[in-house]
Amino acid sequence: QKTIGILTSGGDAPGMNAAVRSVVRTALYKGMRVIGIRRGYSGLLARDMVEMNLRSVCDTLHRGGTVLYSARCPEFRDDAGVERGKEVCVEIGIDGLVVIGGDGSFRGARDLSIKGIPCIGIPGTIDNDIACSDYTIGFDTAVNTVMDMVDKLRDTSQSHDRCTIVEVMGRRCGDIALHSGIACGAVAILVPEVPFSIDAIVEKMQRTLSTGKKHFIIIVAEGVVNVNGIGSVQDIANEIQARTGVEARSTILGHVQRGGAPTARERVLASEMGHYAVELLEQGIGNRVIASKDNKIVDYDILEALNMKREFNKRLYQIADEISI
Ligand code: ADP
Repeated sequence: QKTIGILTSGGDAPGMNAAVRSVVRTALYKGMRVIGIRRGYSGLLARDMVEMNLRSVCDTLHRGGTVLYSARCPEFRDDAGVERGKEVCVEIGIDGLVVIGGDGSFRGARDLSIKGIPCIGIPGTIDNDIACSDYTIGFDTAVNTVMDMVDKLRDTSQSHDRCTIVEVMGRRCGDIALHSGIACGAVAILVPEVPFSIDAIVEKMQRTLSTGKKHFIIIVAEGVVNVNGIGSVQDIANEIQARTGVEARSTILGHVQRGGAPTARERVLASEMGHYAVELLEQGIGNRVIASKDNKIVDYDILEALNMKREFNKRLYQIADEISI
């Protein structure tokens, strides 16, 4: 009987539970044993784990966060740490491992695969910054959360003829900003992937002011603040207010974006990816990352996936710019 392990690692994301549930249920359906490992690679090294049964994942599908907890494990960056991880797998009898997380977690999965424990990565991060996959688990929920929050900000922004500048997450990736910016009708979207100028934003606002527009939303990806001379979102607000005469306020949404019930789309994606991961391990295949490409679930060699360059959707960015006048 095959035994597989499952862990969630790095930043948590809504939908991770749906992936865990799918992995557990698929593996049990196929007659495998499943060990749930708590707090990522830290829990592996600490042997903090529990055998999962059909009921272990009850009532988790609709919950944000991760029932397996997540952690960062610095020891796993060194060969000695990975070697200890392998020894624990051998000792417990773990024949394969599913790792739900981001690029960092996949590096650990690759190192462990090379040592003979087949590992499969599932992209779980709100940032959508995994190059090989069009979508990562958590992104859709985060964008919907931002949309709900900005809709509320728009009400007050509209009532006071204000400009509201909202900083959203995404690390070095502008996807949360781009998608929420489109969904919220932002007049400008600032992302690390595309050069922008405050001059151009001021000019665009002045043009739209002359056509009768009185309130504005600007979405700023966290990847552009405090770099290249761009200060905090409050600094941007101060400059916009000084140059346009429109009262400007800044809001940093922060960790609300990491929480909440996963959207339907997220649950479906996570369920498909979890199922696919177990199918690979069933065949003894490891060192792969699951991805969503053109609406199909596919898999890539981990190193190949890590070396891919993420393509920013310039066309969508252009559309956002053209329709926000
Ligand atoms: P994410 O997986 O979301 O990118 P991190 O970069 O924090 O998050 O990585 C999560 C964990 O993956 C780290 O705490 C560490 O245990 C492991 N990890 C990260 N980078 C490496 C690496 N280069 N080699 C091995 N393991 C790594």
